[in-house]
Amino acid sequence: MARYRGPVCKLCRREGVKLMLKGERCFSPKCAIERRNYPPGQHGQAFRRRQLSDFGVRQREKQKVRRIYGVLERQFRRYYGIAARTKGQTGATLLQLMERRLDNVVYRLGFADSRKQARQLVRHGHFTVNGRKTNIPSFIVKAGDEISVREGSRKRTYFKDLEASGILRKKQVPDWLSLDAGALSGRVLRLPDRSELDLAINEQLIVEFYSR
Ligand code: SF4
Repeated sequence: MARYRGPVCKLCRREGVKLMLKGERCFSPKCAIERRNYPPGQHGQAFRRRQLSDFGVRQREKQKVRRIYGVLERQFRRYYGIAARTKGQTGATLLQLMERRLDNVVYRLGFADSRKQARQLVRHGHFTVNGRKTNIPSFIVKAGDEISVREGSRKRTYFKDLEASGILRKKQVPDWLSLDAGALSGRVLRLPDRSELDLAINEQLIVEFYSR
């Protein structure tokens, strides 16, 4: 599936919030939001206080979620379709689906610094799900699934350093996941609840955007 390949800090500046797309840099003073918190482009500063229409507010909310998870419009719309057909609250189900993507789970488990890096690690075949090599970032995990670093990849400098640094051992994973840092492996204990997702998103606006 295609992905956005352009500059990512621009996306945060467009939304006016930190979308945390670059890992460690997002916590440093180098973050573009800290330095230039206005929309990108020649007229960005002029538009800083622009009032958004109702449509604009909904669209921006949808774009935020798409950008946080690195999903393009067509795929996101497909996720919305699945969420709308599923029993329960559409907005919460949509966010749950995004959270269940394999690249997001790899990121949440602490194997990567950002979702973008997690996506690349998955694409390069470094992970298995229930013992089977899985290199599809959009793979949707289920409760009980075990996500591990592939045997052959454990010798790689990246994973050796990750283990040696002790970062994984200190990693706080969400309650719906468990991590065995020594075994470079994690498990999905149950599906995530909306209240557990640290997202400052009003998903109802996304539902309204697509139901217009
Ligand atoms: Fe966004 Fe991170 Fe870039 Fe800051 S450093 S603008 S949070 S991607």
